[in-house]
Amino acid sequence: MKIMKKLLLSVFVLCIQLTAWAQIESAPERTEGEGPWSQLIIRGVTLINGNGAPPLGPVDIVVEENKIAEIKTVGYPGVEIQDSNRPKLKPGGKELDASGMYLMPGFIDMHGHIGGEAQGVTAEYVFKLWMGHGVTTIRDPSAGNGLDWVLEHKAKSAKNKITAPRILAYTAFGQGSKSKISSVEAAKEWVQDNAEKGADGIKFFGAKPEIMQAALEENKSLGLRSAMHHAQMDVARWNVINSARAGLTSMEHWYGLPEALFTDRTVQHYKLDYNYNNEQDRFSEAGKLWEQAAPPYSERWNEVMNELIELDFTIDPTFNIYEASRDLMRTRRAEWHEDYTMPSLWEFYQPSKISHGSYWHSWGTEQETDWRKNYQLWMTFVNEYKNRGGRVTAGSDSGFIFQLYGFAYIRELELLREAGFHPLEVMMSATLNGAEALGMEDKIGSVEIGKLADFVIVEENPLENLKVLYGTGTIKLTEDNEVTRVGGVKYTIKDGIIYDAQQLLKDVKKMVKQNKDKTGYEIKQPGMK
Ligand SMILES: [Zn+2]
Repeated sequence: MKIMKKLLLSVFVLCIQLTAWAQIESAPERTEGEGPWSQLIIRGVTLINGNGAPPLGPVDIVVEENKIAEIKTVGYPGVEIQDSNRPKLKPGGKELDASGMYLMPGFIDMHGHIGGEAQGVTAEYVFKLWMGHGVTTIRDPSAGNGLDWVLEHKAKSAKNKITAPRILAYTAFGQGSKSKISSVEAAKEWVQDNAEKGADGIKFFGAKPEIMQAALEENKSLGLRSAMHHAQMDVARWNVINSARAGLTSMEHWYGLPEALFTDRTVQHYKLDYNYNNEQDRFSEAGKLWEQAAPPYSERWNEVMNELIELDFTIDPTFNIYEASRDLMRTRRAEWHEDYTMPSLWEFYQPSKISHGSYWHSWGTEQETDWRKNYQLWMTFVNEYKNRGGRVTAGSDSGFIFQLYGFAYIRELELLREAGFHPLEVMMSATLNGAEALGMEDKIGSVEIGKLADFVIVEENPLENLKVLYGTGTIKLTEDNEVTRVGGVKYTIKDGIIYDAQQLLKDVKKMVKQNKDKTGYEIKQPGMK
């Protein structure tokens, strides 16, 4: 049974999904969060905006219902704030004392699958992990629970009837059609149909060139956006540069980019007994891919990068989801698994020849070393892309390869930092860049008058240490040599509704504990007696 479920999931992730995916349990009606209020004043906070501006504080931020009405500097660091300077609270309003705290725009996870039946998770579990980490908007790349399900949750989230981030639905190309789309006419028809149903965009995995061309053009002409994982099965004839020219909004992961940078080959140097359905083959050979591409700052490398930027193309690297490839033990032993990873999800991650992303047949020093070098070349491209004005966003792709919702998003921010981003540039990727790629920069992505009141508030300075954003916080030794933990998002505010982020994570912990108590399950290390 378990094997069957895993098999189904691998089909979901890497192939074009033809029929709606079995759905996970819907989110319950919202019982968390307070507000919105006719007026909310967040007092004395240090603002880290998503627009690249340095921290500024103390400020008072005035929200009316779900919109930002005023952002007022009320003093200077270390100087007592004069009350006469501050916006006055109107009757019926609410004050939130955030003095000494840091406030950012709500985070946007550009690659947020809302779980799958095989992972044994519920929508509530996934949403609370996101909201507990300050993620107030997600793009669901493939609408894995079926477009109707996702649109229903999108509508409920928009009305704040459930505790969930804003949702954008990018349907997997071909989802719901009886057979694989093999003609230009069928492609256009599907794209029109998808728009009519109310999707926000399309997630592509690959198709033959004329179909990709037609589908991308049709989709763009209808005003919808798109994302693509350039799966290896079609990448020889259609890589990232083809997609960008045809109007794709964002590339996901890395697939299709090294291929656009080939100068002395047209296909990856596959070993000759390679089999795509053997994931150890797929992922270990992928670890040698960037080395086969044009080297950093070479003519081809520059050419491709500059053209992509010219085309206003977005890169959503999802660095974190491949991290186990370069450091399996780190991702397997992450300290949140015990309390926050649902047993069924933990099982789903384990080595298997069948389930997707569980390619640990024999994963050792050689594979990890290859992947470390791979990351360096990949990160060099992404960092320089940002430096030349290209848009880079933050996406997690959680629920696979030991990466957990929410936590993995924060890890993604750390990996952008590792790639060379200044922490403020990391914040831009997490907020305004995502909003732009979604076409929502007039509503979200930065703290500006008139935008929606989506915020993340944390007690520590996240620029100094991004780890303070993890639900498990970060270790800090006190003056008295006492071990403590600091951080974790304190409040996540969406549409002017204040959520106690720690409470949301406690709820998740409880769900996991109840599940373990019921089943007697304990997290074990694979293969250990
Ligand atoms: Zn994905």
